[in-house]
Amino acid sequence: MALTEGFDVGAVEVAVLWRKTLSKALYTQMVGRVLRLSPETGKTDCMVIDLVGNVEKHGFIEDIDHDSIQLFREPRRKRDAPSPSKNCPVSEGGCGAILYGFQMVCPHCQYNFEVNRIVKILNLKHKLRPSDAERFQKYRDLLQRAYHFKRAPTWAAMQFKEQYGHFPPMAWGRHAVFGTPPPDNAQQNYSLHLQAIANRLNKDDQWIERYLTMEF
Ligand SMILES: [Zn+2]
Repeated sequence: MALTEGFDVGAVEVAVLWRKTLSKALYTQMVGRVLRLSPETGKTDCMVIDLVGNVEKHGFIEDIDHDSIQLFREPRRKRDAPSPSKNCPVSEGGCGAILYGFQMVCPHCQYNFEVNRIVKILNLKHKLRPSDAERFQKYRDLLQRAYHFKRAPTWAAMQFKEQYGHFPPMAWGRHAVFGTPPPDNAQQNYSLHLQAIANRLNKDDQWIERYLTMEF
């Protein structure tokens, strides 16, 4: 409670949320404390430990509208990212992570909601350095989001590049959207998805083929 309002030290790196709030503006304000950079101390990272379910209610801190942090106002609705709405089920062997409703493959443990079990997608993950493993997961998460929000897989690669300064290796996207084995109709649905985007962005059949091959 003491840290909720009127506390503004840029060097704070960890916030523990133990007050449940129904107000997204207040949540944004609480988390905004640690999201600020501190040139004085060189701080570029923060950690938020949420003990009371604020993240499940209001969304991941990565998705906070940064304008609303500056202005302490209620975030604009249309720019709101969806709130995460389910857990990776521990009772079925999952890891318990909080996930968006649309995520069909847990990016942390590869639990697959369509087949209700953990599917080991790639041994590659375990061969990566920790910093690469994070990027690997990030790209896969972006590819899932791209599909959900009807965006091109190239959108995911661009987002990745914006964050990390380089494009992701294509192999990192293998089976990223549906996991393996893919559920029934996944290939047909993804093909339709890619065709619609190809029409919109003037991409040729080779482009569609490339991303179909990456997924299946
Ligand atoms: Zn999981």
